[in-house]
Amino acid sequence: MQVIGVLGGMSWESTQSYYRALNEGVKHALGGFHSAKIVLVSVDFAEIETLQQQGDWDKAGELLASAAQNIERAGADFLLLATNTMHKVAPAIEKAIGIPLLHIADATAEQLMQDGITRVGLLGTRFTMEQDFYKARLQDAFGIEVVVPDDTEREAVHRIIFDELCQGKINSDSRERYLEIIDSLHQQGAQAVILGCTEIALLVEQAHTHVPLYDTTALHASRAVARALKG
Ligand code: GLU
Repeated sequence: MQVIGVLGGMSWESTQSYYRALNEGVKHALGGFHSAKIVLVSVDFAEIETLQQQGDWDKAGELLASAAQNIERAGADFLLLATNTMHKVAPAIEKAIGIPLLHIADATAEQLMQDGITRVGLLGTRFTMEQDFYKARLQDAFGIEVVVPDDTEREAVHRIIFDELCQGKINSDSRERYLEIIDSLHQQGAQAVILGCTEIALLVEQAHTHVPLYDTTALHASRAVARALKG
């Protein structure tokens, strides 16, 4: 079994979901006492969040690249960056390490393609919904058309992630707001919606809506388990 590197803490609320999903995945595949081999480095999210606010992505990239080097040195065979947003600096991380990075958008796109989804809604932080590092990868590398919420909706989706989900607050009014936005994306022709922030599945589950949901945390972890067991 290969060793899975996890660069987490962004936020730690969702790193818990990764830890559980990786171990459950290996247990499901191998049974008995089996569990995942993991090297986890968890950063202080306050530092990352400040750099995001300042738009200092270079500094954030350096910080995460150095954490990724520690993960490599500790024996990981490949790396998961346990956040969608910080994939903005994935190229800086990849340049700093010798092990492969399993990109969260690729893990998600592969499942969408397998399921025949060609037009998808995307929920995430403002950075993920508005900038190109994520949307363009889905569109250019996989030919998947991406629909994002309107400006007011994006503001709500982003605010709920930072003010609530990353701080462990689960609020039913916020869940209703997300479900309304998911419906509206569906009405605009999205066949499914990507939960493109690793905390969203803490708020919204498939049981809450008839619109198919693609949880990036679960998909990323499941690809990682498959890779670890193949290697
Ligand atoms: N975990 C989130 C994501 O998947 C947001 C936190 C962050 O900005 O890294 O995008």
